[in-house]
Amino acid sequence: MEILENPWPNPALPLLGVELPTLTLKSTSGSFDITPGNDLRMYVCGITPYDATHLGHAATYLTFDLINRYTSLGGGKVHFVENITDIDEPLLERAERDGTDWESLGQRETDLFASDMSALRILAPEWFVPATKTMDLVDVAISAMQNNGFVYELEGDLYFRTQSFLDELPYSLETCLSIFGERGGDPARPGKEHPLDPVLWLANKNGEPGWDSSHGYGRPGWHIECAVISLRYLLGSKFLTGDSTRTSLIDIQGGGSDLIFPHHFMSAVQVKAITGQQFARGYVHTGMIGLDGEKMSKSKGNLVFVSKLLAEGVDPVVIRFALLRDHYSQDRMWSEAKLIQSQADVDRIRGALSRNEVAPTTQVVAQIINALSQNLDTPVAIGSLLAWVEATEAGQTGGSTGELARALDSALGLAF
Ligand code: ZN
Repeated sequence: MEILENPWPNPALPLLGVELPTLTLKSTSGSFDITPGNDLRMYVCGITPYDATHLGHAATYLTFDLINRYTSLGGGKVHFVENITDIDEPLLERAERDGTDWESLGQRETDLFASDMSALRILAPEWFVPATKTMDLVDVAISAMQNNGFVYELEGDLYFRTQSFLDELPYSLETCLSIFGERGGDPARPGKEHPLDPVLWLANKNGEPGWDSSHGYGRPGWHIECAVISLRYLLGSKFLTGDSTRTSLIDIQGGGSDLIFPHHFMSAVQVKAITGQQFARGYVHTGMIGLDGEKMSKSKGNLVFVSKLLAEGVDPVVIRFALLRDHYSQDRMWSEAKLIQSQADVDRIRGALSRNEVAPTTQVVAQIINALSQNLDTPVAIGSLLAWVEATEAGQTGGSTGELARALDSALGLAF
């Protein structure tokens, strides 16, 4: 797998010709603002490519796509980086189960992910970076942390010392301990200085894939991968030293709410251990998606895959529209009924947009932009759009379909 610049083609963003208000987003630590016209450095945690893109992934990348679009429309340059966790336990386990090799499995699922993203009109990251291509970066980053006193060895494996960051935990210590065990951590391993310490470098075991490094032959822990990829691809040559001209090194680290702990916490404190600086201004998290009242998970076998919906002939604009109906930060349910309702609404919107005379559009465009500016309030934006459809169907006139269609395409990624 290779490091890719602009991994899939981006649709053009028609300009809106309106002034964009400041974008306010909710972070785990409160609200923060993105000023239109300013550049944005955004890192979104990517997939572990052992299975196809499900609706939870789609909803997450759609959320950061809205931020990307909003900033770009405001005239700011977006530096957007996404990783691919192409070496990890689940990938190795799945490859073993299916009797395939982990590299071709990872490549196949990454290609499918890219085509799903493209179908959903999600703008490509500037850099799409597989973890396996960053071993040299991980190597020097671990050395930097070692020099700063944050690394210890346990039976050939290297661990990160979390002790000095425990007062920054996002949840109680007890909660963190239980989540840590469920999400890839090893709190019970004897000999660790603190149960929450995550692995930085895992010595090679049982013939698993490994890489040579100054810390021995092995492979990196998950959190250090995201820490180094974000620093290298968003800060360039300042990746180990940090950037003292900035209070925080990047603007946004994003992902699903299941990444709040340990992943985003650990990446952020490891960045601090490398550079001495605050990592992101804001940590933005998306809610989880369930199916028909149940949590969607691979263990339940009820994941809804984007590629499967597309293969069944579902219009990608309908999937995107259905996901936008709910607020990104909420846990929500997916259902067949929601898809059917969304198809019906999309048909009505297309009908309204094809009329010669339509209800006034300047106001609805402003309402959509304002809703987006307030923590990406897409339910309000969609509500305004449907109210416009109703007004058009009721015979109101005075609008311009071009003006509204451009705004829907650019700001919401809905090309009708
Ligand atoms: Zn990550």
